[in-house]
Amino acid sequence: MPVDLATTPVDALKGVGPALAAKLNRLGIVSLQDILFQLPLRYEDRTRVTPIGAAQIGQAVVLEGEVVACEVAYGRRRSLLAHMKDPSGQIALRFFHFSKAQRANLSSAGAIRCFGEPRRGATGLEIYHPEYEKLTNSTPLDQSLTAVYPMTDGFSQTRYRALVIQVLSMMRDDPLKELSGRPSAYDINAALQMMHQPPADADTESLMNGTHPAQRQLAFEELLAHHASLRYVRQHADAQAAPRLARPGEACGKLVAALGFDLTSAQRRVVSEISSDLCSANPMLRLLQGDVGSGKTIVAALAAVQASESGLQTAIMAPTEVLAEQHFANFSEWLEPLGIRTSWLTGKIKGKRRDTELEHIASGATEVIIGTHALFQKDVSFHQLGLIIIDEQHRFGVHQRLALRGKGRLGLPHQLVMTATPIPRTLTMSTYADMDSSIIDELPPGRTPVSTSVIPDSRRPEVIARIQSMCADGAQAYWVCTLIEESVVLESQAAEAAVEDLTQALPNLHIGLIHGRMNYAEKTGVMAQFKQGDMDLLVATTVIEVGVDVANATLMVIENSERLGLAQLHQLRGRVGRGRQASHCLLLYRPPLGEASKKRLAVMRTSNDGFFIAEEDLKIRGPGELLGSRQSGSVEFKVADLIRDSDMLPEVKEASERLFKGDPETVDAIITRWRTLPDQLSQV
Ligand code: ADP
Ligand code: MG
Repeated sequence: MPVDLATTPVDALKGVGPALAAKLNRLGIVSLQDILFQLPLRYEDRTRVTPIGAAQIGQAVVLEGEVVACEVAYGRRRSLLAHMKDPSGQIALRFFHFSKAQRANLSSAGAIRCFGEPRRGATGLEIYHPEYEKLTNSTPLDQSLTAVYPMTDGFSQTRYRALVIQVLSMMRDDPLKELSGRPSAYDINAALQMMHQPPADADTESLMNGTHPAQRQLAFEELLAHHASLRYVRQHADAQAAPRLARPGEACGKLVAALGFDLTSAQRRVVSEISSDLCSANPMLRLLQGDVGSGKTIVAALAAVQASESGLQTAIMAPTEVLAEQHFANFSEWLEPLGIRTSWLTGKIKGKRRDTELEHIASGATEVIIGTHALFQKDVSFHQLGLIIIDEQHRFGVHQRLALRGKGRLGLPHQLVMTATPIPRTLTMSTYADMDSSIIDELPPGRTPVSTSVIPDSRRPEVIARIQSMCADGAQAYWVCTLIEESVVLESQAAEAAVEDLTQALPNLHIGLIHGRMNYAEKTGVMAQFKQGDMDLLVATTVIEVGVDVANATLMVIENSERLGLAQLHQLRGRVGRGRQASHCLLLYRPPLGEASKKRLAVMRTSNDGFFIAEEDLKIRGPGELLGSRQSGSVEFKVADLIRDSDMLPEVKEASERLFKGDPETVDAIITRWRTLPDQLSQV
């Protein structure tokens, strides 16, 4: 009987027991279909034999020849050395780990076939630890290229490959063949066949960089599944009752009056969009985009006050403890005078204090609760949750966003998602297909745009002199250290080294340090000192990327800026230019600059407009450059990459809407296949 790959769990395979199944599950591989959605990293050509004389350093090859001698070599490390010969030449196979049996076996092997990568060794060309087999029963050569998977320890390539082959043989005619109405030579079976077992003459370059039509077809389907899932989320929300709120009342008016500044017209527009959503009978699902410093926090606060005027609680979720604390400081300052109780809950709050907070949340004694993802742990229950506000959405996945909604007891809470990473329009249409969108496209008055210079590392002394003179005039500065690898440890070490250098160069300045390996108390302590002006220069890793607000800081130096993406650079730069003084950003780079880096830095130099920068980012990256979707905000995909595949998004949207209306069964099947709908919703 044919099995349905999408709904059959991996342990249905031969040779997959509970332990292996658990391992696969941890890699996100749950169904048989998922096994095939794990695409190869690269390919090896084992389809033909290379004469030994033609073998080259660094190019993996299949060789066939006679073992003419076999010896144990005693160098710095003991090794087994087998010399292999064919009419064209000779090569040595070296094994550092070997058994007696293997030695005997190889000595008498006669003709063998081996696979491996030649290198220069002590005896000339050598292959370390090749795969090999006797030629006597001559296994046929592979017909297709051999896939190499991105598996990590505990998993051998051979083992995963065997699973793939098993599942490929179970594929049956795809019922969704015509699903997208998209002209492509590949239906899903053909596409997966091509990805996992490409013919010897396939264009491996395009298979590896995601531009091959087979992979594009898979990406298209996945994006379609994702889009359709979000449509479901929306449809589901539209069918639910929301907690009913009254129009903004006296407290909202008081808050605005007490601010000490006037809301910008963009803020006023957005506030009214949100407040009318809040009065609607169905839950709000709204994305609020606004560049760094555009004043999203007060907009969020007004929504929270409106909720509290109707006796409902608001949960505000921030991505880091530092940000949660900063929000808490703002909110309590604004809301306590109105008699609205605020509190906060993060992972660091434990024991008795946590129990008390939980009690207050459950009894409704606190009305506005600010926190990190600690907010949606099991033991947190709200009295009357009416509104959920999520700040800096790109740090949370869609699934987390949906999990929080389960906390409402009076119907589905309203939801406001705020992001400071401007998202290009095509991406919004696709990755936030379930949400309405509001944009604050205006900065508060009196801000001078940050002037940005791009400076080679060789001119560091001038930069340091500039810090010296600006700090002498009472300004404060950031020095940001970045590393290409996403290693908190290495990045923190680089920051420590920078502090040492800068302390020597600037002996009369107070220099502080903040990095990702410090604990929460240390970080907030440093930020507080910097904010109070006790420090002139703050050396930081990218942990300051999000949300921290120090108006007196007017200079930012970013080291190795060529390594960062535009979104991240723009975010970082947003930490200066928060006060009335003119601010500067110096982007240090190490020459020579690559084409893309050159363009990125030029965009930074010429623009302060986050939306423009986001659109440029998309253009500069284009297909082939795999910076990942981390920066573009949103979920992890199995195959698709939002940036790389962004050109397909309009077509994806169109196909998804058409199917959603005309062919719900196909939509269900495709969603099941890609498992894009969160569990809570796939049951409804
Ligand atoms: P973001 O959108 O990046 O979260 P914030 O809400 O932190 O921005 O606002 C940045 C700063 O601007 C804060 O100090 C805030 O009080 C101030 N601010 C917000 N709106 C206005 C306004 N309309 N006029 C003047 N200052 C404002
Ligand atoms: Mg903010």
